[in-house]
Amino acid sequence: MRVLMVASEAAPFAKTGGLADVAGALPSALARLGCDVTLVVPAYREVFAKGLPVEPTGLSFEVPMGARRLEARIFGGRLPGDAARVYFVANDGCFDRPTLYGGPRDYADNAERFIFFARAALEFAGREERPFDILHCHDWQAGLVPAYQKLVYRGWPMLAGARTVMTIHNMAYQGWFWHWDMLLTGFDWRYFNWRQMECHGQLNFLKTGLVFADAITTVSPTYAREIQQSPGGCGLDGVLAVRSDAITGIVNGIDTAAWDPATDPYLPRGYGPDDVVAGKRAARRSLAERLGREIAEDVPLVALVGRLVEQKGIDLVIEMLGRMAGGGRARFVILGTGSVDTEEALGRLAAEHPGVINVVIGFDEGLAHLLFAAADVVLVPSRYEPCGLTQLYALRYGAIPIVRATGGLVDTVVDATPESLGDGRASGFVFDAFDARALERALERALDAHGDRDLWDGLVRGAMARDWSWDTSAREYVRLFERVRAAPPVDVH
Ligand code: ADP
Repeated sequence: MRVLMVASEAAPFAKTGGLADVAGALPSALARLGCDVTLVVPAYREVFAKGLPVEPTGLSFEVPMGARRLEARIFGGRLPGDAARVYFVANDGCFDRPTLYGGPRDYADNAERFIFFARAALEFAGREERPFDILHCHDWQAGLVPAYQKLVYRGWPMLAGARTVMTIHNMAYQGWFWHWDMLLTGFDWRYFNWRQMECHGQLNFLKTGLVFADAITTVSPTYAREIQQSPGGCGLDGVLAVRSDAITGIVNGIDTAAWDPATDPYLPRGYGPDDVVAGKRAARRSLAERLGREIAEDVPLVALVGRLVEQKGIDLVIEMLGRMAGGGRARFVILGTGSVDTEEALGRLAAEHPGVINVVIGFDEGLAHLLFAAADVVLVPSRYEPCGLTQLYALRYGAIPIVRATGGLVDTVVDATPESLGDGRASGFVFDAFDARALERALERALDAHGDRDLWDGLVRGAMARDWSWDTSAREYVRLFERVRAAPPVDVH
């Protein structure tokens, strides 16, 4: 089966969040199952700055953009493990910029940038020598691909027989643009209607993908249910409810080679379930050096790694820290970037409690690995969470996650109760209400459990033993690909 994967970021080349982890690992997992996978991502400045092997292919072509044409130059590389090819679409005007999408405000021309990307991905695939069976599109940045395939490139032999799969990594980011951007897409205005591309007067890239794709997936079964209702669907719940037969929830895996505490190059020493205490002690020392602070050995270390935004429940963390920091029961280290207000609020807390709270503002892959290794507990108190990866990294590194019962967190963490501890299923602490007190109570439960050495050791062993490799989920994708390939394409006329 020949799969073209279209994603706006992929680890290790360019990353702002979980999408990159998925796009960087799923192609290799599919390849191991016999799929022939080609990944296409934009050639951002970051891609070249990493020093990874990325070479020009010599291929270039022009992509229509309204009345103009933009040149796409194609670079090539391979994903780690050599299992899948990755191609980068270069156009300096679009992608040679300091960040992927802008920030703090989105780039004003993001519509143009990702119209260009979607078309260039298809123009590239259309020039390959063997036809594709599946076009697997991720998030709004690739949302126009299914519509282009059905409306513009349907006569291209390498693309015509393919089925399209749209994967939602986060419903809240839909790619809303003003209606005049329709002129850049080249689509006929008749598709700008409330059933297809239009949403409240705007052009909506994700909605377009959801309507035109032959199948829809999202990154956990619970999130698949949540997005078919309000508020989880973020205004597109109606669109999704209409297509409920086409939606599948497949939980993300993790790249077990890049995230392996036994071999992780970012750690001072490797460790496994049998020497996790020594491994964590070494990681903590290294972390203390990085932070320029001492970290007490006998106090549990609580970490949070992620975008410091509302979605991630960072407001709960700030409120909880204000109450718990003085108690001396734990040390906290937070790594992330977010809104100025949030970063400042966390900075103030850290300044008020210098021995207790450390806040590192920035995106630092190595420090994230070190934190999961050093931590005893990892916080994921999300307001909503499509899948969530940090709780999975935590489990693999023997840190116990505290999660709110939402989305993929429900599907990946089992609350520690006497019963689940008894039968070995427990893997973390789960709380329901989106409320700082509920988070605080869950953390108190975790800290109490940490005081019981045998119980904690059992919990950590159980957590580290779980298999979150991509193999199971990749098999589900293959089954889905086979199903959609055998069915007729969705009728969009
Ligand atoms: P989301 O995609 O919503 O941001 P996920 O939990 O799915 O959340 O994935 C986040 C990914 O980004 C994880 O790999 C996490 O370790 C990483 N990450 C987030 N913020 C940072 C940061 N400041 N430094 C390093 N890695 C980060």
